[in-house]
Amino acid sequence: MSEGGFAAWSYSRKEILERFWARAEQPAIASACWIWRGAVKASGYGQMTVSLTPKRKVVSAHRLAWLLINGEIGDMCVLHRCDNPLCVNPDHLFLGTILDNWNDCVAKGRAKLHLPNGRPRNTVLGLASVNEIRALHDGGLLSEDLALRFGVTGRSIRYILSRETWRE
Ligand SMILES: [Zn+2]
Repeated sequence: MSEGGFAAWSYSRKEILERFWARAEQPAIASACWIWRGAVKASGYGQMTVSLTPKRKVVSAHRLAWLLINGEIGDMCVLHRCDNPLCVNPDHLFLGTILDNWNDCVAKGRAKLHLPNGRPRNTVLGLASVNEIRALHDGGLLSEDLALRFGVTGRSIRYILSRETWRE
């Protein structure tokens, strides 16, 4: 997913920088997480409007942080080393693929797939995730919560739980 970049946005780079820093809380300790105080998406990530014409465009705050400091992102994902979705400290961010994003989350025990467009979709989940979904459901999590957590539709979760889709 390409952001289009400053040239394509109605706010200038200077305006975007000013608006970004007005919303990013820098702690006394520079190496700590910089918490985003602006708007937050349902996915838990910060967001900021970067263009109003020809239509409103919103980008993720951590992607914007990377863009402002390091430049173009292209089709890559901006991931958090600190596992804090609201953090916009560039030192805590790194570039990876969607698969890296998934593996990173699994490694952190979060197993939450954040798709670039922020919307859940039917995703092919690995057997480890399927087992985790079943275990979490046995532990009392509802299919709606699981869908949110794994970034897939509730229907996918129900298929998994009914064992129609995956068979060991
Ligand atoms: Zn952080």
